[in-house]
Amino acid sequence: MIPQHHYVSCVGCGTRVHAYDSTTFSCPNRDCMPNVNHILQKKHVITTQLWQRSKLEDSRNPFVRYRHRLLGYHRALNSHHSDIDYLERVAELDAKLAAIDGTGFVETPLTIETELADALGFDPMQKLFVKDETHNVAGSHKARHLFGILLNLSKESLNRPFAIASCGNAALAAAVVSKAAGAKLEVYIPTDAEESVVERLKALGANLHICERREGELGDPCYLRSLEAVRDGAIPFTCQGPDNGLTIEGGSTLAYEIFDRWIENNHSCHHMFVQVGGGALASSSAQALADTMRHEALPILPRFHTVQTRGAFPLARAYDRIVRLIDARLRGLPFPELEPFKDDMSVEDRAEAHDSSAISQRLIMADCIRSAWDSTAVQSVVRYACANKNAFMWPWESAPHSIAHGILDDETYDWYAIICTMLRTGGLPLVADEDHLKKAHELANSYTAIWPSATGSAGLAGLLLMKEAGAIADYENVSLYFTGIER
Ligand SMILES: [Zn+2]
Repeated sequence: MIPQHHYVSCVGCGTRVHAYDSTTFSCPNRDCMPNVNHILQKKHVITTQLWQRSKLEDSRNPFVRYRHRLLGYHRALNSHHSDIDYLERVAELDAKLAAIDGTGFVETPLTIETELADALGFDPMQKLFVKDETHNVAGSHKARHLFGILLNLSKESLNRPFAIASCGNAALAAAVVSKAAGAKLEVYIPTDAEESVVERLKALGANLHICERREGELGDPCYLRSLEAVRDGAIPFTCQGPDNGLTIEGGSTLAYEIFDRWIENNHSCHHMFVQVGGGALASSSAQALADTMRHEALPILPRFHTVQTRGAFPLARAYDRIVRLIDARLRGLPFPELEPFKDDMSVEDRAEAHDSSAISQRLIMADCIRSAWDSTAVQSVVRYACANKNAFMWPWESAPHSIAHGILDDETYDWYAIICTMLRTGGLPLVADEDHLKKAHELANSYTAIWPSATGSAGLAGLLLMKEAGAIADYENVSLYFTGIER
């Protein structure tokens, strides 16, 4: 038995789960304390040695290179497996992924896109970094999240079915990864799922369940049916953090790769833009940034910006409500009462409040909160928000539409970690309209050799808004994710 240097605990209620309990994926208090933001998060008690650069294996497979930071690796060691056993298992699974989908996991490129930067009117010295995740396993970052879960599972768990509610990149990634593992996958899809995705899922051997809305039922029927499957013993093989907190660590390898390149090449970056749907990509990146800041010196802490569409922006709404409370606390004003599940602004007014003309004013407030991050005023509000989720995050009321349809989740599941990172770094939640999303998609396809979908290039729409607002100085470097290949 190795020393207990790792544990898993709930961000919201503090419940601690044994780090080597590979059968608990969500907080046991979720149902009895529904107002609290429950999400399991892995913790390392002694982390410095896990972060030594000498620990980084000279491998291009992120699950090998960063294995000392992954709970899945420590679980393997704790189950009487050796380092070699772990490496052999990853190599075996990787070979199967390559046979099924054409590629295993390799570090994806971080390119400096000068033509795109020129088209955006950047200064010649300014750098625009783009992490090209479109050629990862199954064509998006989703496979990283799911492979991270897989490495955390015991051998016995592979006999249980895996369950996911999705009809896009997450489902495709789940199908590829579960096939490589030899596990049975149940996919819960809506009645209007895209035919090409359905065909590919069938070809990969996934068991499909078409979910119709039931009379009087609230919420996404696919998600509800997948929860029923989990209650019946299936593994939640999903990118939604509250249902499976282990989905975050595989995704973090993506941001580790970015920070490694910056550190190795002495690059600095002032702004990171991340598109947000369910929030797993942003949450993984936020946690990787927090870990990196704790152990390694990034020359500059980038502002962490998120990008949603005007179709649905529950994260921006939650951010606004938290900032309103922080503002009151910082000024010593009475604590505003926030009604749960109800916004006091119309959707149109709130979207207007995120227009590019409002950005400079918002940045002033963001800078003020960043400098006061450790104060009681700010910390008391963020803890309050974590314990009173329904006053900040609830499902979007209307059915959203956008060209960036992959980020139309009605709820940002892991909103809390993302908002804390925005507040801590002075980042903003940007809300892009369809014109900006279309322009970003065109620019990405015209001025780079990458071929992202409109969802995959949505981060660039956020950069366009910031550029319009004059909020990117001509000495500031910027990074984006292009993830999700055009199909
Ligand atoms: Zn909890």
